[in-house]
Amino acid sequence: MAELRKDPVSDRWVIISTERGKRPTDFGSVSVADEAGESKSCPFCEGNEAKTPYEILAWRKPGTLSNSAGWEVRVIPNKFPALQIEGEVNRQGSGVFDMMSGIGAHEVIIESPRHNVNLPDMEDEQIDRVLWAYKQRILDLEKDKRFRYILVFKNYGKAAGASLSHPHSQLIATPITPRYVKMELTKSREYFLEKERCIFCDIIRQELGEFTRVVYEQEFFVALTPYASRFPFEIWILPRRHEFGFQIMPDERRMLLARCIKEVLKRLKKTLNDPPYNFVLHTAPNPVTRPGKPHYWGTIQYDYHWHIEIIPRLTSIAGFEWGSGLYINPTAPEEAAKYLREIEI
Ligand code: ZN
Ligand code: ZN
Repeated sequence: MAELRKDPVSDRWVIISTERGKRPTDFGSVSVADEAGESKSCPFCEGNEAKTPYEILAWRKPGTLSNSAGWEVRVIPNKFPALQIEGEVNRQGSGVFDMMSGIGAHEVIIESPRHNVNLPDMEDEQIDRVLWAYKQRILDLEKDKRFRYILVFKNYGKAAGASLSHPHSQLIATPITPRYVKMELTKSREYFLEKERCIFCDIIRQELGEFTRVVYEQEFFVALTPYASRFPFEIWILPRRHEFGFQIMPDERRMLLARCIKEVLKRLKKTLNDPPYNFVLHTAPNPVTRPGKPHYWGTIQYDYHWHIEIIPRLTSIAGFEWGSGLYINPTAPEEAAKYLREIEI
């Protein structure tokens, strides 16, 4: 029986439609490993540093020079940026329309000097360095008062939007807070003002109690398939203790997050034959005080709870979803969690 479910954070409705009861093998996705060939001309491979723009940040072996070999993680500006870094943010109104100049930062985080080792197969230490790079870049870009938000994301596989197969993620800093993040922030704040509790902490407590949608848990992190999952095998990773920003997480906890990400991605890879996926980090917005709204984010440290959303690209978004914002999900999150939890890895 299909079910309409509302996600309490975004107020978004989802259709869980299990009529056809999709199992992991029914999606017939093309394994990403099969499409990724070795590439001598890959600009992200070690030794090809001259083929990329100058690096912004790198985790380097002692004694190595920037823009040369000897790095473990490397951050560079995107060669084809979606937004331009130079210039002022001009907000304009024209009658009923509002516009803003396309100012922003668009960077690439090269996750490894090696072409064919992806997150689930990396050492924990390597994933930790990738997370270190995310943190350093967020902390740095946050200081730029033109930007309201920094979204870290990853496209894995062609079907998920990746144009290069070398392991990498990206970030885009924007002069606005993106709509999905804003919806989460607004709802979290409303919930907090009403109940004096964090909505995510309440969800985590309930999920750990029921344990039907938990994929993996350890001392500091939990991975679960959200109650109103939009997509089959959608997974969220959250810190178990309340924390409003990824960038304020103590460094010693990062290794545990690295382990959790690896565990979850390994389970996803095994269950669904290495599917393409997108990964987004939802963290607190930049600490910008807005004129006339000094307390706009006044309770954010109590009301918002950062998390990572992983969306495997198994189904395509078609006319109905685009037109209605109402998703039809053929796999119940309880089923997905069971497969992911029980798979032998
Ligand atoms: Zn490469
Ligand atoms: Zn919380």
